[in-house]
Amino acid sequence: MQTTDVAIVGGGMAGASLALLLTHHCPQLSVTLLERQPVGGVDAPLNLPSFDTRATAIAAGSLGIFSQLGLWPSLREFAAPIRQVQVSDRGHSLGASLDAGREKAASFDGMLGAVIENAALGPLLYRALKNTPVQVVDNAEVGAVAMRAPGAELEVSRAGKAARLQTRLLVVADGAGSALCERLGIATSKVDYQQQALVTTVGLQKDHRGIAFERFTETGPMALLPLPKRAGMHRAALVWTCENGGHSSLATLPETEFIQQLQRTFGWRAGRIIRTGKLHHYPLTLSLAREQVRRGVVLVGNSAHFLHPVAGQGFNLTLRDCDSLARTIGRAMAEKGPDFAHSGPGELDLLEAYWRERQHDQQLTIGFSDKIPPLFASRSLLTSGLRQLGLLGLALTPAGRGAFARQAAGITP
Ligand SMILES: Cc1cc2nc3c(=O)[nH]c(=O)nc-3n(C[C@H](O)[C@H](O)[C@H](O)COP(=O)(O)OP(=O)(O)OC[C@H]3O[C@@H](n4cnc5c(N)ncnc54)[C@H](O)[C@@H]3O)c2cc1C
Repeated sequence: MQTTDVAIVGGGMAGASLALLLTHHCPQLSVTLLERQPVGGVDAPLNLPSFDTRATAIAAGSLGIFSQLGLWPSLREFAAPIRQVQVSDRGHSLGASLDAGREKAASFDGMLGAVIENAALGPLLYRALKNTPVQVVDNAEVGAVAMRAPGAELEVSRAGKAARLQTRLLVVADGAGSALCERLGIATSKVDYQQQALVTTVGLQKDHRGIAFERFTETGPMALLPLPKRAGMHRAALVWTCENGGHSSLATLPETEFIQQLQRTFGWRAGRIIRTGKLHHYPLTLSLAREQVRRGVVLVGNSAHFLHPVAGQGFNLTLRDCDSLARTIGRAMAEKGPDFAHSGPGELDLLEAYWRERQHDQQLTIGFSDKIPPLFASRSLLTSGLRQLGLLGLALTPAGRGAFARQAAGITP
């Protein structure tokens, strides 16, 4: 039977990022990353759910984490900087904006964040993994799991052959609706928002000047995020939240009619929209695992928390979790020295210390992502009034703006 100190099941954004952080903070540990899809040709697009046609807004705090890993120069090459965030409510003139120049405490390298297409992020992470001792095992489906002290024993199927892998820490990173959680008897609480996120890339007539738009409309919240120019075209990533059913009528419209409808709903703040790409839609739920740590087990990414995407917080929260987990294990290794080899990274005290460190940020971020969409989707006069008050607070008070910017950037004061 093969053995490893840490087995990460799922090589999406969460699993791949954690593998990099673990080798950085705990180089003595052996780490195995198991992914059911092929990841061999890193210069070709990766056929993994994480690395599809979406784009991800990476907040300033997360850019800092990637920078420690030495990934900032390659990220910068593929990403568009966010210099300003404009939050506005369709039909009302009041809006608020955050500027990288003004919100220095919530900025990284003069930007509030950066937007990268997931199809570019995947190969970048896997290229970085190639330069580490992480053992990446692709085409590998993890099936049965048995808890065996000091960790877990996994059944791994690869090319029709089954093998066993003993690990001291099992990291569950197999995504939303995690089959591994189900096998381990870890329950999940779910709220169905009865909404879909319609996602596409749009072509703009004029430069977006690094502005990310968060726009609250009658049909639901929208985000238009700056993307790097391609083939001479100014581009932006659209995330349009629609009530269930609404997305299917939009998705069947011819391109010109879709653009007209989008322009009517979004308005003209980003100028004329001239093209759209293929439309994709994602059902929206809030899904939270009831336990994130057990002896020998930790959950990260969508298997731990799957959030509403409008505030662009899901991956950013995950990256902060992964950074904290890797640092907690690294600290314990440094403190315990040779004793650590005995207790190992799956020790319950250690995982509970990680969980205590993360609880506050998780509660704040999950609350932020959960409360904002209904507040901004509501048409009632009372909520509309509250919303305007909130925007007024953001527009007029530096303290309110700073707190909002730091929360959005994932930077704790
Ligand atoms: C529309 C949309 C827009 C978003 N925009 C943003 C944004 O702007 N900013 C932000 O911070 N976040 C954003 N997010 C959130 C972000 O996409 C998620 O945080 C991210 O996808 C987390 O991925 P994951 O690795 O946890 O899960 P997944 O991507 O689902 O990866 C799980 C992996 O596990 C593998 N796997 C599953 N089962 C097994 C098994 N048994 N054996 C081996 N491998 C297995 C799968 O093949 C897969 O590769 C957005 C989400 C959505 C839906």
